[in-house]
Order: sequence, then C-alpha cells, then structure tokens
Amino acid sequence: MTSLSRYRRIVVKIGSALLVDRRTGLRKEWLASMVDDIGALAARGTDVLVVSSGAIALGRTILGLAGKTLKLEESQAAAAVGQIALAGAWSAELARHGLKSGQILVTLGDTEERRRYLNARATISTLLKLGAVPVINENDTVATSEIRYGDNDRLAARVATMMGADLLVLLSDIDGLYTAPPARDPAATHIPVVEAITPEIDAMAGEAASELSRGGMRTKIDAGKIATAAGTAMVITAGNRLNPLAAIDRGERATFFKPSPRPVRGYKTWIAGHLEPAGRLVIDAGAEAALRSGKSLLPAGVRAVEGSFARGDTVAIVGPAGFEVARGLVAYDASDAVRIAGLKSAAIAGVLGHEARAAMVHRDDLVVSRLERQTDAAATAAGD
Ligand code: GLU
Repeated sequence: MTSLSRYRRIVVKIGSALLVDRRTGLRKEWLASMVDDIGALAARGTDVLVVSSGAIALGRTILGLAGKTLKLEESQAAAAVGQIALAGAWSAELARHGLKSGQILVTLGDTEERRRYLNARATISTLLKLGAVPVINENDTVATSEIRYGDNDRLAARVATMMGADLLVLLSDIDGLYTAPPARDPAATHIPVVEAITPEIDAMAGEAASELSRGGMRTKIDAGKIATAAGTAMVITAGNRLNPLAAIDRGERATFFKPSPRPVRGYKTWIAGHLEPAGRLVIDAGAEAALRSGKSLLPAGVRAVEGSFARGDTVAIVGPAGFEVARGLVAYDASDAVRIAGLKSAAIAGVLGHEARAAMVHRDDLVVSRLERQTDAAATAAGD
C-alpha cells in the first residue's frame, strides 16, 4: 500500500529531532542514509522535494544555546546560523549522489498570496526541470509570529499541493496516528489507514508536541487535510531509523492517509489550502445544502460574520453543526458582510446604497470540504 514506486513526485518533511542531536549537532549518518534513499528514488525518475526543519535546533547547538529559552531575535539568529549549515550539509550529501540541490526559504505570504504563490511554484518547477532537489524551509530569520507557518508540517502540505505532488511523507518521532496520544493513553492503538479525515480522526490528534518539534500530531492532521483535499496522499511514520524511506517501501509501520477521490484542482487548490482564514461565516442548514450541491453562498443563508476581513480574503464557512463546510474568497468586506447577513438578495442594494454582488462567496471562488461518511471511516479505523 505504501510502496513508493507508484509515486511520481514526493515531498518529504523531516523534523528537527531527526536531523539534529542537541549535544552533538547534525546527525550525519542519518542524513547520509536519508540521501541514499532520495538518490534511489531519483534514479527511478521520481521527483523528490525535501522540506527540512532543523535550522533553529542546529543553530542553537552551534551557538552553545542548547537548553536555553530563546527570545524571538535569538531564535532568528540561531536560524540564520543553523540554516547555512543545514543547507550546506544537504547540498554536500546530495552531491555525493551526483544530485544538484537548491535552497528555497519561504514565508507565509509566499504561499497565501496568489501572485507570490505562482512565483514560488514557477521557481520550484524550474529547479525540478533542471534536475536539482529543492531543499525547503521556512525563512525563520525574518518570520515573526503573525507572518509565520510556525511548523513545517503545514508548510510541507502547502508545498506538496502547490507542486502537484502525489505523496507527502512526514517523518517524525512517532510511527503514525494512534486512537489517542500513546504517551498519555497506553491503550491507544495504531491506525494503519485513514480513508478520510473525519471529526473522529481529527479528535485523535490531541495537542502533543516535543521540545524540538513544534508540530505534534495536531499539525500533521491539519497537513493531512490540506494534502488529501488536493489529491495528495500522505504517510506519517517514524524517521528515527536509518534509511527511513526504504523502511516505508518495505511496509514498516506507518499511517497512510488516502487522497480525496474528488480532489480540488488548480486555482481551487490554492483556496482550499489556505492556512489562516481571515474570518468565519456561520451559515444555516439551507445554505449548507446549497453549497454542497454546487451553488454560491448568498447573504440570506449567513447567520453570523466573525473576524475582520477585506473583500477577496479567504474565509472559513462554518455549518450549523460547528464544522467547517467550505472555504472561499469573500465578495464583501466584513463591515458590509455584517450589514447584509441574513438579507434576501433583492434587499441588499437598499442597505448598501448601491448595486452589489448577489453572492457573499461565489461558487467559482469556493471549495466545499469533503463530505465524509463519518461512521464508515470510524469503523475502518477501529477495525485495524
Ligand atoms: N522551521 C523550523 C526550523 O527549521 C522548524 C519548524 C518545525 O519543526 O516544524 O528550525
């Protein structure tokens, strides 16, 4: 099931704890074995993109700051020192296999703003065409909390869907998803296959995070939502063994997330994967049914407007049960949206004082979340 040979383009996300030992620095033997696996895939014609964490962890070690709580500017400085060493190590190791590599550092806006997203995509495509392995990380030296991904799980999912990868591999300190965080619940059982990320699957993630990796299972499941919605399968497995990709190929323990059978494409991939919606529209049951049958969201079906957003921003659309049912680009600023929420289209011009768009979110700018048959998916999970 997880045999890697069927995939054409694979994004591999590597957590800090795998690459960096707090005392001794870079785990060279592990990196060499990882690159052996990448070399083997590249020799088969598979495109491999690496999303590598470890800049801050490595920089701390180099600067003698291990174990200290860092201020923002200290962790930015650590990232600057760590990133140059990290990229150098990747480049040297890939060169051993005759592979070229290119470093890409991104900030949140590079994937959230449409123009910058297209730019980043064009650069990475060109790198792949030229036969170089993209080595990607967040630009931690300039990213502050408001403008950062914060974790490389979601960043890797965004890169995977942006680049049309068919598999995202998250290498972590845990060998997959369990029914509950195993550190807290010894009775938790491992789930080999997730058909769809239902609210039940979502609840299994908990909030676990270790000191070196910020993500924990929460951000991995969020990554899974982005990836699978766009038709990218995802595997979570433990990376703390040599040749971790070969281990997946052999069928060692992992959780495999199936891609959506009806993935969103093109422009809608960009909308669906938005990481930080600027606001929320809470809608009624009639509007939810209309969205699910492919219609636009009209102001009449909007119960509540939350957040401050401008026209064209991405908003989450939440159904009466409290779950997100869609995401889309809103046609009104928040202040106007509040004024026309609940109104019939014919009444809008009177309230706003001018002719306006009939839809709050037009169907061309809207992506409905997967309709999940929760009971079926939960039964599959429990049966394994
Ligand atoms: N970008 C961070 C780093 O390279 C890692 C973030 C993460 O581990 O998710 O240090």
